[in-house]
Amino acid sequence: MVFLSSCSNNDTEQVINNTALNQTDKDALLFMLEEEKLARDTYEYLDNLWSINQFGNIKNSEQSHMNAVANLLTQSNVPYEILPYGEFMNTEIQNLYDQFVDDGSISMNNALTIGATIEDLDIRDLQDYIDLTSNVALLSVFENLQCGSRNHLRSFISVIENLGGSYVPQYISQEQFDNIINSEKEQCN
Ligand code: ZN
Ligand code: ZN
Repeated sequence: MVFLSSCSNNDTEQVINNTALNQTDKDALLFMLEEEKLARDTYEYLDNLWSINQFGNIKNSEQSHMNAVANLLTQSNVPYEILPYGEFMNTEIQNLYDQFVDDGSISMNNALTIGATIEDLDIRDLQDYIDLTSNVALLSVFENLQCGSRNHLRSFISVIENLGGSYVPQYISQEQFDNIINSEKEQCN
């Protein structure tokens, strides 16, 4: 609720503060910016190694996910930096990238499993941050990213299953995984 009963500077500041991101929200955006970059950079790398359409298509979607997070950071005056391909400020994410490009170079099946793993992780981390925030702008961006991740997961799993393989979820529950895989592709914003 916003009360514009007077036009003093104090009231204007109050309005801005009510819509501002708190520190937890800012940290969530900065973390997710690099996690989306992890997806984009890994798929870029694997797209050059294996001729599977999914990597090329989904990496473009990851770029749009990065843009959505970056736009919200810019709007909120939160400084951020996007490092070159394959480089990350967060060491945990850097370690995941290094491991994914090593494992993904071994076989096409490994590469596809990595695709599913990244989406599995993304859905879990986005849910954790969705549960932590009440900021409407942040919720809207993260719910849209999660919608995209569910579609990406469906896409990777369908190729894995077409090749006779299977994937066991590592981050989300088996029930949540089954619900996603057994439901139709979604229209995300
Ligand atoms: Zn994404
Ligand atoms: Zn994705």
